[in-house]
Amino acid sequence: MKRIFEVQPWNVSTHEFKAEDKRLQESMTSLGNGYMGMRGFFDEDYSGDSLPGIYLGGVWFPDKTRVGWWKNGYPKYFGKVINAVNFIKMNFEINGEKLDLAKDEISDFELNLHMKNALLTRSFIVKKGDAKVKFNFERFLSVAQKELSVQKVTIENLSNDPVDIKVISSIDANVKNEDANYDEHFWEVKDIAAGSVVAETKANDFGTPRFTSGMQANYVTSLAPVGNEMTDFETSTTFAGTLNKDETASFEKRVIVVTSRDYDTQDDLIKAMNDLSKKVSTVSYDELFTAHENIWAQRWEQSDVKIQGDDEAQQGMRFNLFGLFTTYYGDDARLNIGPKGFTGEKYGGATYWDTEAFAVPVYLGITKPEVTRNLLMYRYKQLDGAYVNAQEQGLKGALYPMVTFNGIECHNEWEITFEEIHRNGDIAFAIYNYTRYTGDKSYVLNEGSKVLTEISRFWADRVHFSERNNQYMIHGVTGPDEYENNVDNNWNTNYLARWTLEYTLKVLKEVSPEQAKQLNVSDEEKAKWQDIVDRMYLPYDKDLNIFVQHDGFLDKDLQPVSAIPEDQRPINQNWSWDKILRSPYIKQGDVLQIMYDFIDDFTPEEKKSNFDFYEPLTVHESSLSPAIYSVVAADLHYEKKAVELYERTARLDLDNYNNDTVDGLHITSMTGGWIAMVQGFAGMRVHDDTLSYKPFLPQKWDSYSFRQVFRGRVIEVSVDKDGNHFKLISGEPLDIKVNDKTVTLDSLQTN
Ligand code: BGC
Repeated sequence: MKRIFEVQPWNVSTHEFKAEDKRLQESMTSLGNGYMGMRGFFDEDYSGDSLPGIYLGGVWFPDKTRVGWWKNGYPKYFGKVINAVNFIKMNFEINGEKLDLAKDEISDFELNLHMKNALLTRSFIVKKGDAKVKFNFERFLSVAQKELSVQKVTIENLSNDPVDIKVISSIDANVKNEDANYDEHFWEVKDIAAGSVVAETKANDFGTPRFTSGMQANYVTSLAPVGNEMTDFETSTTFAGTLNKDETASFEKRVIVVTSRDYDTQDDLIKAMNDLSKKVSTVSYDELFTAHENIWAQRWEQSDVKIQGDDEAQQGMRFNLFGLFTTYYGDDARLNIGPKGFTGEKYGGATYWDTEAFAVPVYLGITKPEVTRNLLMYRYKQLDGAYVNAQEQGLKGALYPMVTFNGIECHNEWEITFEEIHRNGDIAFAIYNYTRYTGDKSYVLNEGSKVLTEISRFWADRVHFSERNNQYMIHGVTGPDEYENNVDNNWNTNYLARWTLEYTLKVLKEVSPEQAKQLNVSDEEKAKWQDIVDRMYLPYDKDLNIFVQHDGFLDKDLQPVSAIPEDQRPINQNWSWDKILRSPYIKQGDVLQIMYDFIDDFTPEEKKSNFDFYEPLTVHESSLSPAIYSVVAADLHYEKKAVELYERTARLDLDNYNNDTVDGLHITSMTGGWIAMVQGFAGMRVHDDTLSYKPFLPQKWDSYSFRQVFRGRVIEVSVDKDGNHFKLISGEPLDIKVNDKTVTLDSLQTN
């Protein structure tokens, strides 16, 4: 655990600059606008340790899979998000000497991420010889014009004598990824001119698309342009001026970033880049910023969460929502939510089951339904890839990938890639979840029914029939708990397989005759699916009244987590893989993940006995885990436990809980705070088209409130020491249930 930023409700800020925390600072001050994003690395070169990173949504490269012993079925490449051409680069010279914060003497340092309007600021005073100069940086990625990045620097001479200032602003295609198999450059420059670079990703052997990106800068500055320079990779423009005592220079860099994802030809791309560049060059900084800020204000207006009495929790919650909004706001159905979003290379911008299992529940509550629908459409559009994944394993139907950019599996760890098939069920579950929450059946009855049918075809082929037991089984899988591989009859997977088949059969009864014809599911196929539903084996222990994580789990040495010596935790950084696999320790919700997903389908006794059994064995070494347990704990009225688990999730990155935030933020687990508060503390559910709550207030808080989008309404829920208050902010009146009693929401309600 390490906290390097001050606790403030709307800001992530620090007044200290420590070289050893540079990467952590960079992760925490990342910006994004759904289209592109970047770590909070410095504009100017920094000779100390740093992980610079700018990423463009959907721009990736297939890195050849390297394994010791090749097995049939391995994905041929590992897809990775690549570091984009660096378009924010600008270096500064003071009296001919280069600014470098790794070496210079600085004071009055401040770094501040303003979450309210997604602005990053940095300021400091630097002394170089007799010169004393104050720098003030601002940076934002516009949400009003997705292709626009804006940087503004003001430079003030605090010395008694005049100082010469030079700004060398560049676009640099000479970038590398830190996490690459071959230590390669991924970009080939196609066109380079004063202030612009067009570069294409290198050719690859796997037939995946190459991407072209074009960047064009224009400047608004009080300094004078003194020339352009170009190398094979980099274009630089230099500006200079002399500042008298107390004089200030200002320098703005506006860069338009376009990619071939939006244009068919390089000519079209260059034309769009020029047009957009022209458009933004005629507008003032304030106008550009106001347009951006207004959209952020609307986002917060719709979904802010307020916590009184606990500033740390407040900051954590806003930081999480901020992280989600910077990564994805549903504007482009071809994009998804990577576990690290735009904040790091590891896991990159690839799509995982995290989206359906952890992000969908939150986006449903904080944005309009179209945003989540786009996430579902993403999977529909990638069906072709999912067929390939299933065929690679010799199976029918669709196997959605564990990790992907284009629908094809691109993760090369066998136990994860082809054993962690529960994700196919989680993707089906998200369709149900969306339909249940929004009441909108248009997806499930059309595209969704196709996705469900093909997933069901996969399950029907992946199960086998055990003559001895007269039941269907699924062998050789990894459940969500990745601390066990190649197990038989993982309860989570079997449950989801059975549930998907059952749900698909139900949906098939509701689709239009034309859709049914297209889906072409024969009566024989349906009968087979029904038989699997009826005779699926689901491991259960009568004595303990628990669903057993998999065959053999109960034969382990079931020592609780409290038996692990403190200095051996986290076990994934201290134990051999073999020791972890043999242990009973659970990385993240497995049985409990299903209890969370289908929380109203289990009896209180079932939830209690399973929680009491599995929770003491869970190490929560996936950041996705604590929130799920928190909701089940809250459901069981284990308030202390629910709050403890909430705290673990809400400030995971702000406090660097897992000691790995240097690599980037845990974007998909930033959903956890909202899940734990709204579904846990407030007990929010949707059942039979009815929204209901059973709220409680954590003891150490004075109050909390959140806004939630539900079927055309925005509802505000506040819970304080006087009780629960529900307010209809916009939309038609609505009947909800509060502690099982019906309440009509048409104005302020207090319960
Ligand atoms: C978790 C997976 C998750 C992945 C990406 C892993 O540590 O165990 O469930 O999909 O991280 O977030």
